[in-house]
Amino acid sequence: MPVHPLPEQEAERVAKLRSYEILDSLPEETYERITRLTARILDMPAAMISLVDGDRQWFKAQVGGDRSDVPRELSFCSHTICQNGVFVVEDASRDPKFLDNPFVTQHPHIRFYAGAPLRASGGLNIGTLCVLDIRPRTMSARDRQSLADLAAVVMDALDTRLIIDRAETAERRLIDAVESLPDGFVLFDNQDRLVICNSRFREIYAESADHIQPGVRFEEIIRKGVASGQYPDALGNEEAWIAERVEMHQNPGEPTEQHLPGDKWFRVQERRTSDGGLVSFRFDITNLKRQERKLARLAWTDGLTGALSRRRILELAESEIERAHRHGIAVSLLILDADHFKQINDRNGHTAGDEVLKGMVERWKRVLRSHDLIGRIGGEEFCILLPEVGSDGAVRVAEKLRQETACLPFAFEGQLLRATVSIGVATLAPGQDVAALMRSADRALYEAKDAGRDCLVVAA
Ligand code: GH3
Ligand code: MG
Ligand code: MG
Repeated sequence: MPVHPLPEQEAERVAKLRSYEILDSLPEETYERITRLTARILDMPAAMISLVDGDRQWFKAQVGGDRSDVPRELSFCSHTICQNGVFVVEDASRDPKFLDNPFVTQHPHIRFYAGAPLRASGGLNIGTLCVLDIRPRTMSARDRQSLADLAAVVMDALDTRLIIDRAETAERRLIDAVESLPDGFVLFDNQDRLVICNSRFREIYAESADHIQPGVRFEEIIRKGVASGQYPDALGNEEAWIAERVEMHQNPGEPTEQHLPGDKWFRVQERRTSDGGLVSFRFDITNLKRQERKLARLAWTDGLTGALSRRRILELAESEIERAHRHGIAVSLLILDADHFKQINDRNGHTAGDEVLKGMVERWKRVLRSHDLIGRIGGEEFCILLPEVGSDGAVRVAEKLRQETACLPFAFEGQLLRATVSIGVATLAPGQDVAALMRSADRALYEAKDAGRDCLVVAA
């Protein structure tokens, strides 16, 4: 049996190609329709779409044929596949390449063959569209063109299908990737409409998740969010908050922090995309935020009494004094020192002393307004800042604090501990800074101690 091998390179290239898999992406009817049309247009008894499958030439669709495949070395189509244009055998019984081919000498006694390669967009021929007859024929240039056109239609349909497949695969991959992110992810287009977000994003904005849908504009999502209580910081200040949020979104820069219900905190990172859209991430920083607050509290407050630390009260006093100077408002400062506190410790133990210190601060808080500040500036020495309180008011407050301390003993483990305080009172004078104000209160305190303790002295 004569074998007319394909050029070696081409054969290898074609064999590697699993063309039938590519062609499987179109529905069967498309191929059947094309083969029917081809047979009719070219007035041929048989037409088929044949594909390369290893060492077989396999028929994907056919009219007038009765085989499902043929060995490639006997196939007319193997020759078409190596061509760029239409391959025609007008009379196989006279063509040296085919005259002893069993499909020519025996059933089905092929005499005429014309095939057009199915050329994939990469330039690779993956199969053929061909017609057969059992009598010799010639083929006009118009018919050749029609066969080539019909083959091109198959490939155009396939290309479209492949493009759709590729787009679908790309979208699936994108969705899969964003869903796998541990953080909230959202993408907006250049009209600021939501393109895609992951379920984590919707989970983070649970209150407004219903409005987080493709096509909805950022501002609308934010407005609906504010309306549904998604942003505690916006409460009572809605329009300004929305304007600020939208402005930030339109000019993305440094990451910002966002407070959400349930005391959750997220870092919001927004970046422009190359087409004018915007990608944005939400990182959960709730734990970080809580730790930060705890550390700040530790740094700012005294662990025993809950009063502010020395550093913190001095900082706050400084800004309060600046404010008072700027607006011409009064501010007073008291320094309170527990009397003979060493004796309390010596007689009742240090733990008892601690309880008295705690108890004193608790009693003072009951006397003071919520915006007065208590700081512990030494072991048994405290400073109280009274914003917007002048000298008369400061004396009244100091006297109440003194009485509140002395009126009743402090109870600790069945013991009753009497304690008193001496108080230095100073009211801010023009040009005074925090250090100067502290110094005058301190001098007044010394005078109170000298005057017998459990009393107050107003600084000169
Ligand atoms: P004065 O009336 O002159 O202020 O007498 P004082 O004994 O209170 O003054 P002094 O400065 O001699 O002693 C302060 C005492 O306060 C000594 C110290 O043991 C005690 N003290 C300081 N900090 C603490 C504390 O955190 N807990 C307890 N229990 N005692 C403290
Ligand atoms: Mg003391
Ligand atoms: Mg002291």
